[in-house]
Amino acid sequence: MSRASRLAGPGDLWFLPLGGTGEIGMNLNLYGHDGAWLMIDLGITFADERLPGVDIVMPDPGFIEAQKDKLAGLVLTHAHEDHIGAVPYLWPRLQCPIYATPFTAGVLRRKLRENGFAEDAEITEVPMSGRFTVGPFELELITLTHSIPEPNAVAIRTAAGTVLHTGDWKLDPEPLVGDDYDEVALRRLAEEGVLAMVCDSTNALVEGESGSEGEVRDSLTELVGGFEGRVVVACFATNVARLETAMRVGEAHGRHVALVGRSMHRIYQAARECGYLADLPPLVSDRDVGFLPRDEVLLLCTGSQGEPRSALSRIVRDDHPEVSLEPGDAVIFSSRVIPGNEKAISALQNELVRQGIKVVTDRDHFTHVSGHPARDELAQMYQWVRPQVAIPVHGEARHLAEHAELARACQVPQAIVAENGTLINLAPGAVEIFDHVPTGRLILDGTRLIPDRSPVLRERQRLLYNGVALVTLVVDAEGALRAEPRLALQGVLDPETEVEVVLEALDALKDDMSKLPPGARTSDERVSETARLAVRRALFRAVGKKPVTRVHLIRL
Ligand SMILES: [Zn+2]
Ligand SMILES: [Zn+2]
Repeated sequence: MSRASRLAGPGDLWFLPLGGTGEIGMNLNLYGHDGAWLMIDLGITFADERLPGVDIVMPDPGFIEAQKDKLAGLVLTHAHEDHIGAVPYLWPRLQCPIYATPFTAGVLRRKLRENGFAEDAEITEVPMSGRFTVGPFELELITLTHSIPEPNAVAIRTAAGTVLHTGDWKLDPEPLVGDDYDEVALRRLAEEGVLAMVCDSTNALVEGESGSEGEVRDSLTELVGGFEGRVVVACFATNVARLETAMRVGEAHGRHVALVGRSMHRIYQAARECGYLADLPPLVSDRDVGFLPRDEVLLLCTGSQGEPRSALSRIVRDDHPEVSLEPGDAVIFSSRVIPGNEKAISALQNELVRQGIKVVTDRDHFTHVSGHPARDELAQMYQWVRPQVAIPVHGEARHLAEHAELARACQVPQAIVAENGTLINLAPGAVEIFDHVPTGRLILDGTRLIPDRSPVLRERQRLLYNGVALVTLVVDAEGALRAEPRLALQGVLDPETEVEVVLEALDALKDDMSKLPPGARTSDERVSETARLAVRRALFRAVGKKPVTRVHLIRL
């Protein structure tokens, strides 16, 4: 039995990422101590074209699910999808208490209600800077800044040592919404002594600092002053500071602000519930926008990533019930391009330009700052916290390696580059990787969770790339054809103009069938396989494709 299937003892402290290390997205981190596990974050990532028909992907929690009675709780650092998005799907398998600050809890409750999953999940609200106990772990939240309200680092104190799990963060001197980062708490923790810091690597390749929401507000205020038509600001709904900025910019230029897109409304409500976005001019509904002069409108819109079902894409397709754009209007992308979305975003922007709408992105103007620490901020954090060991997470291999290098340059005695499934011993003794546990990805396919290596998906990919051929054969007990064979094709030929190919394939099939020895004709398997190969070869000769070919054999 490997050590990984045992539990950490009272003197042990282990770290085990099951998602989000070696990739950006679907975070799932585990800490083991004194017979228990603590989970930090449970997120999703978005599927790309390699997973046809699938939207979201999440870590396989199998390792911890198998010992869920030892899972003391789940702490959510903040409300981004890559940290909370898998809770609706995976919580029913884990059934552990959930801890989150009020805004994160509010966003999560809305998600659970909307999906109709895990509505009975027990969420304990913890105040900002709160201290609480989960099993043998003494936890303290330390307020940081990021691109969403209430981003928390978690200080994990155990009898075996203290870890700072940073979550996502940056050092924003002017975050606009929410509290400033808590430098005092970080320094205090350093005084106590920090064994390990498990830290955000997203921007470990970026020199300098990430910049502040305050600077973006100044820049957007100036930018919008130059436009005469309607102005759309496209950004992530979860960036509540950016939402407030857009509302203030509207106010500064005598523009009424409307929210467009479901997630804008959802996040707005969650933010208002927690006291954010107060003291702002009232919003107008998107229905009223049409009655206002074009230069008195500012629309705050989802869809900055070119998502086809989002508000902005629908507006561009003229498929939005309330809002449309005209030549002379402007769309400001107050967002970054998430890797993988380049094509969709570029298609959307081209279509806007084609329609005579001005497009402004962060390449043309200062419209966006990242929510993750650039190298100077990472160095500052290491100076404050002074951990014995740096464990970079929340990054791809390059980010983790560069981050580890930077930590060493910041006088951190040891840096360990891990990947999903590496079990790291933090205490006692040497800090080192001592085991690997199985990991994987689950995908939400329709209403089911299935492994991303499932044969269902491999087959769907084959169908997608090659099309389908379905042969129907009716034969008698001796294997003689009792009806004309049928061949139905999908995604292979144009049935209107290429019917010749079908007839040729059927001829080839009949030919091969007639060559079968009498003994073979009584075997369903032989008959089917002969028909399948004949059709497949004929189609390959004709069109150079090998469709997924199935034979439906009926024996009378
Ligand atoms: Zn994240
Ligand atoms: Zn985040």
